[in-house]
Amino acid sequence: MDRQLDCAPFGYFTLDDAGMIFEVNQTLLSLLGYQLHEVQGKHINLILPNASRSFYQLYFFPMIRLQNKVEEMFFSFKSKDGQEISVLLNALRHERDGKVFNDCACLRMKNRIEYEEVILAAKKETEARNLLKVKQIAELERLQIELESKQKKLLAVNETLLEMANTDGLTGLRNRHYLQDCLSSYFTPHTEQSLTLSFLLIDIDFFKNVNDTYGHLTGDSILQKLGNLLREESRNEDVAARYGGEEFAVVLPATGNVEALEMAERIRCRVENADWNTYGVTVSIGVATKMPGDTENSLQSRADWALYYSKDNGRNRITFGL
Ligand code: GH3
Ligand code: MG
Ligand code: MG
Repeated sequence: MDRQLDCAPFGYFTLDDAGMIFEVNQTLLSLLGYQLHEVQGKHINLILPNASRSFYQLYFFPMIRLQNKVEEMFFSFKSKDGQEISVLLNALRHERDGKVFNDCACLRMKNRIEYEEVILAAKKETEARNLLKVKQIAELERLQIELESKQKKLLAVNETLLEMANTDGLTGLRNRHYLQDCLSSYFTPHTEQSLTLSFLLIDIDFFKNVNDTYGHLTGDSILQKLGNLLREESRNEDVAARYGGEEFAVVLPATGNVEALEMAERIRCRVENADWNTYGVTVSIGVATKMPGDTENSLQSRADWALYYSKDNGRNRITFGL
């Protein structure tokens, strides 16, 4: 064999069609750990692991016969000491001196296979991380949706709590606390001084007698019914509230004394003529309209005074507080 081919930086061997090894270069012999006389004239099976033997029979040989060449075929050899050695094999089929030879060149694949394994491991790790990331994003989205829904519920609960804090439980009207805040808002330094505002204080006449005669439950239902009546009489901008016990109040924004007295009279009249299922129920009402220099207290005091004037003068009547 040519010296250059013998020591070429790749393995070289020649097979005949029966698979007998005809020539082997020194590079391949060193790789496999054999002497030339140990392999020359032997069947290729000598240097093949069991798995490669069938591959050689079923794949390599039919292909080279059919196409006269084999390119970049992954192949495994078995060295003399039993190590499996991976190579990349190219082969060409030649006829020399009337005999057919299959010339094979092979390059060891050790580094490449190691690199491939590293790349494969890195790829698997990347895939695992991507999967984890996708799962974490999905979990984050789920938590975000849960958080949004809890926030909505919390807002709804807060609204309900606020509503409850401002509402009288028995009548469903606004409570005294809310009414007081509402009145205050008309007496801040920023409030337009010329804004008209009226205030009604309404007290059920002889209500103690109703409780004493018919019981507290009947008394309660009268309070509820009066609450409904005040709600019906109020405009959107008015605030009707339970002032305490059997007393009610209505704040009437943008309402002068004439309209306030008209409304008070309408309420008094409706109460007197309503069907209460007991004996007649009447109310006394005090009316006050905001004057220059008024405070929320002075306005309420005038309405209070007017209410007591109505009481002292026979009840079931309205009085304007001057
Ligand atoms: P006047 O005409 O002077 O206002 O007489 P009155 O009996 O209405 O007044 P008084 O202040 O003597 O009595 C008020 C009554 O209102 C006494 C109390 O038991 C009753 N009352 C207060 N709050 C409630 C309530 O929530 N339910 C019931 N059923 N009664 C109540
Ligand atoms: Mg009363
Ligand atoms: Mg009272």
